[in-house]
Amino acid sequence: MSNKVCVIVGASHAGVSLALQLRKEGWEGEVILIGEENELPYHRPPLSKEYLSGDKDLDAMRLRPEKIYQDNSIKLRTGCRVESIDSKNKTVALDSGENLSYDKLALCTGAQVRKLPIEDELQSIFYIRTAEDVAALVARTADAKKAVVIGGGYIGLEAAAVLAKNSVEVTVLEMADRVLQRVTGTLMSEFITALHMSHGVSIKTECRVSSIEEKDSLLTVICGDGSEYSPDFVIAGIGIFPRTELAELAGLICEEGVRVDEFTQTSDENIYAAGDCTSHPSFIYDRHLRLESVQNANDQARAAAANICGKQKAYDAVPWFWSDQYHIKLQMTGLSDGYDQVVLRGSTNFEEQLQSGFALFYLKGGIMIAADCIARPKEFMVSKNLIKNKSAIDPLALADESVEPVVFQSPQ
Ligand code: FAD
Repeated sequence: MSNKVCVIVGASHAGVSLALQLRKEGWEGEVILIGEENELPYHRPPLSKEYLSGDKDLDAMRLRPEKIYQDNSIKLRTGCRVESIDSKNKTVALDSGENLSYDKLALCTGAQVRKLPIEDELQSIFYIRTAEDVAALVARTADAKKAVVIGGGYIGLEAAAVLAKNSVEVTVLEMADRVLQRVTGTLMSEFITALHMSHGVSIKTECRVSSIEEKDSLLTVICGDGSEYSPDFVIAGIGIFPRTELAELAGLICEEGVRVDEFTQTSDENIYAAGDCTSHPSFIYDRHLRLESVQNANDQARAAAANICGKQKAYDAVPWFWSDQYHIKLQMTGLSDGYDQVVLRGSTNFEEQLQSGFALFYLKGGIMIAADCIARPKEFMVSKNLIKNKSAIDPLALADESVEPVVFQSPQ
């Protein structure tokens, strides 16, 4: 048994995967997993889905049962925050006043929500990042009838879907000219907008919220175009930013996230990082990426564990993500920005799209860079490989429903 110590900061998707993988990779020393949330680590995606709707409680969302940490000799410390890192002496300072020594340190500190630029902390504005956030939202809005959701990204739209299903009148206010503008093409934005409208949600695009007032428990959302809304509460889903504060204090290079190399190592050779907090080099996309997905957190953490154990495991996965809205699962792989051609496989008719699903493939210079799929699991799976292999694609075959997805690749 080695007496080396690996300290992991952040006990969520990345931190938990990293801790367990360390044991699989043969780390024999201590593993200390530190998380500032008071909860046993839990799956974050259901927060805006089944947890918000009440279909799942936190105990049904645990990442791993408590026993698994004991069985793997992982010292899990919840409700504990790391305040600073002394990289020279290889110690971390905890909010309890303790200092812990490490041989290897892993930063899995994730991200935190971007807040609306309003001065007062208004009682009726909610954000969704932690179980605590959603518990507060549910407790305070049980009898609410009207909601405004600011931001037509995944989280805002998932929350809108849950609220609409619970008969809340929902208005989504989006600054861009379409929902999901940052992450998908126009056709998918149109489908998602039609989906929400068919459930009674009102979506207003090109709408910038200029102020929010709360007087005598009357809430007013005022937009730049002069329109006003009086909901019972507001959910803001306006993005997140990486938690780099510890890394910055320790003098690590941070640029839109903690910079790591392909072996998940930061600019300090004893400190690694994984998950939402990182910016990593992608050889598929030839640039640094900061991703916000469970796939990235888990896969990057597993690579980090191998590297901490002295192996050389590069991380360069094709990103993938899902979103559940009503009964629809949207599956996305790759990154579509910069595409020069989009190919639709399926219909442009909303009813037919609901009936048979459809896929959108994004190409750049004849190479597939991303795919967005509704009820098309085969197309989704095949696309992941095509993106990874940077294969030349025959766009006609992609669009032709009589051609099986497995034979999409064009003849060389
Ligand atoms: P996080 O989950 O953010 O965890 C970081 C942890 O570190 C936090 O618990 C934080 O408290 C802790 N921490 C930070 N600093 C310190 C410190 N100094 N000391 C101690 N602890 C610290 N992804 C998908 O792929 N599909 C989905 O459908 C999906 N839905 C989502 C829905 C919601 C509502 C949210 C919020 C996210 C969703 N995501 C989804 C994104 C996914 O949950 C994240 O990508 C994932 O949680 C990232 O994991 P992480 O471990 O890197 O970071």
